[in-house]
Amino acid sequence: MKKVIDVDRLFELGSEVIRILAEHDHEAYFVGGSIRDALLGMEIKDIDITTSALPDEVMRIFPMTKPTGIKYQSVTVSWKNHRFEITSFRMEGKYENHRHPTEVRHTTHLKDDLLRRDFTINALAMDAAGTIIDYHEGLSDLRQGIIRSIGDPNERFEEDALRMLRAFRFQSKLGFTIEAKTAEAVRDSRKLLLKIANERILNEWAKILEGAHCQMTFQTMIDLQMTDVFPELARGMEILRLQGNHNLNIIQFFALCQYLNQEPLAGSWRFSKKERYTIDRLAELVEVTQNDLFDALIVFGYGTAFSLMANQINVVLNKDNDQRQRIEDIDCHMPIRRTCDLAFKGQDILDTMGLKDVRIIGMIIDEVIKQVITGELNNTYSDIRTFVEGYILSHGMKDDQ
Ligand code: ATP
Ligand code: MG
Repeated sequence: MKKVIDVDRLFELGSEVIRILAEHDHEAYFVGGSIRDALLGMEIKDIDITTSALPDEVMRIFPMTKPTGIKYQSVTVSWKNHRFEITSFRMEGKYENHRHPTEVRHTTHLKDDLLRRDFTINALAMDAAGTIIDYHEGLSDLRQGIIRSIGDPNERFEEDALRMLRAFRFQSKLGFTIEAKTAEAVRDSRKLLLKIANERILNEWAKILEGAHCQMTFQTMIDLQMTDVFPELARGMEILRLQGNHNLNIIQFFALCQYLNQEPLAGSWRFSKKERYTIDRLAELVEVTQNDLFDALIVFGYGTAFSLMANQINVVLNKDNDQRQRIEDIDCHMPIRRTCDLAFKGQDILDTMGLKDVRIIGMIIDEVIKQVITGELNNTYSDIRTFVEGYILSHGMKDDQ
């Protein structure tokens, strides 16, 4: 987790960076999200600085730098143990694939740099003395709580379709309204999102879900017909539109959708293998526990963390089905956590009972686990051994079976 830093201190250090750039005859300003959030009194994690200096000039001036985004003319400067992302003033040429500018041109004017930014509230700049520079009436929109494209929204979304999801992300974070023309353009251009790399889409979805105003955002997304861009997520959006507090992260949201659709998500969603596994397991667990109680077998089989995650999804579907306390109690009394916690193990069966077939041993161990975690059998060497002997006898188990 990122540590929360004192905002005033961060701006103080940022001002030192800006002054150092000024001593080398470069203009520099705070820009973007940090000013927006500072003016709204929100927590700030990163401070972006924009400058007339070129990246290699910035790298020459500061002793500790990293070229983190040279393609986009960004350098990360470490100054007194804090990092600042310093990007050179730039203009963007024509866009291709509705996402990437074909060329990034350096400019010596702050005004040009602010013009390329997405929304008016994201195009505020501030100098080291705290004076705000506002070419696009961003302050007025910030005061009124409006997300408005800079320039013609249709053109801006045509250039970079991801901006449409960014509008929802800022709505979810700030609770602002998307201005009418900008919203109309989102509705008109929404299908362009299908051309955007799925990783980028997922990244924005994750942020939308994190926002405090996510419920309002799903209402807007449904109004602007985002359900036909993301049909697999439509039912999930409908549910979160009605549910204020959800606490679901992106993996849980996709598991919810998979459960609601009763079919696996398309392969085009670029989750890692591990994430997809988690989504599948959660969807399965929600299916099992929507109408049934979690028990020791389920919590042992799926694990406590998965059980708690699935429970959060259950609560979104039905707030009366909150079994968190039950899961925690089961977890608290769980006699073993893993198969290897058994006092008498598969290896002991192999060594002492004359059985060699690992399939049969596996079956016996499954039964032992069931007995132990349901409290029917003590987890001691002698009790389990006696149980296994009886089990083998009563089931007539031999190696050739
Ligand atoms: P957050 O607090 O969510 O990070 P942010 O405003 O800092 O919000 P970033 O995605 O970090 O958002 O981008 C930093 C700034 O860069 C934005 O405020 C905006 O001015 C500009 N920007 C980022 N992405 C785009 C884009 N796709 N089109 C135009 N401008 C953009
Ligand atoms: Mg940011």
